[in-house]
Amino acid sequence: MQFVHMADNHLGYRQYNLDERENDIYESFLECIDKIIEIRPDFVIHSGDLFESPQPPVNAIRCTMEGFLKLKEKNIPIYLIHGNHDIPKSQQKGKPFGILKKILGNSLLTFGKNKSHVFNNEVFIGGIEYVSQNKIPKTYEDLEKISFDSKNYKKKILLFHQSVNPFIPQSFEMQVTDFPEDFNYIAGGHIHQRALKPINEGNSVFSYAGSTDIMSVSEVKDYKQNGKGFYLGDLSGDFDINSIQKIDVECRNFLIDKRIKNENDYEKIIKELQNIQNEKKKPVLYCDIVENLFNSFNDEITDLTLYKRISRIDENLEESFNINESSIEEIFQEYIKNKEMDVNFVYGLYKKLLENDEDSLLYVNDYFKGNYYGGAFDDY
Ligand code: MN
Repeated sequence: MQFVHMADNHLGYRQYNLDERENDIYESFLECIDKIIEIRPDFVIHSGDLFESPQPPVNAIRCTMEGFLKLKEKNIPIYLIHGNHDIPKSQQKGKPFGILKKILGNSLLTFGKNKSHVFNNEVFIGGIEYVSQNKIPKTYEDLEKISFDSKNYKKKILLFHQSVNPFIPQSFEMQVTDFPEDFNYIAGGHIHQRALKPINEGNSVFSYAGSTDIMSVSEVKDYKQNGKGFYLGDLSGDFDINSIQKIDVECRNFLIDKRIKNENDYEKIIKELQNIQNEKKKPVLYCDIVENLFNSFNDEITDLTLYKRISRIDENLEESFNINESSIEEIFQEYIKNKEMDVNFVYGLYKKLLENDEDSLLYVNDYFKGNYYGGAFDDY
């Protein structure tokens, strides 16, 4: 009895506002699907943020259909909850999962009023949708109901999409101990780094599947250490953390934290970029460089990188600042992030005000009433 646990594909996300990055994210998702088809698990569970937005672009819907129809053809059902990014904001604007269900029928199972499903009369699968902090008390009630309804089953899985302590000790919405202990596998979404933690004396596993591509530069280090992709679990025998395998997909290369102080460093990076270009997609490069090499380097790497952010090293201050062609929007987003404000909300409001959008008051209202889908951290 094998299952795949996936989350946080964020289909439709356009990093750096580039077509290539939007497409990368589709490709990573479809690579996951191809690997799932090879494995042929009994079912797939998805812990939310399938889409970057509750109103995904047509290409994101097309990509999802392509992937999910392949699973349907092989009779592999998908159990899917909403994350903070794709949960519908208002009735008015329609629901992307509704479209998916119309086409996929019973091979896509969602968790609106239904708090649970049973796979093959054997595996109980509970799901709690993403909720904003002020609605967490209701989630505890749902968890109690789920726990009660699961009593007669031996194999139990629970899907959720929240930040949980101790994985996010700075700003968490729930604790690991808030979840029912006797579920075999607690399948999380929202945190983009993969994580597995044994609970219930090692008989159960608490997990975050992680994102399937690099959604922010802050994920690069973890990607290089732990990879990205999905988990494959097996409920056939005695279930524990060893029943779970990590399946990886390859993401575009990100070179970050590079410093060029002299000709030697310069040549080394050019070589590295050329090597990557020969066999892989052009990388994203973040680097610092001394003033006198800036211009020639900047020119030379234009064709070797998909996107570059080069900062001059001010040798007097031993500090660097961004001055290249990165957009004002990105600088603004980074500023908001550094101030620890809600990037989605503040940036969203900024855009609405610039466009003279009449909905902006409604938008602010929704946010403070807790109807807003964004979390405090843009990355998740
Ligand atoms: Mn999320």
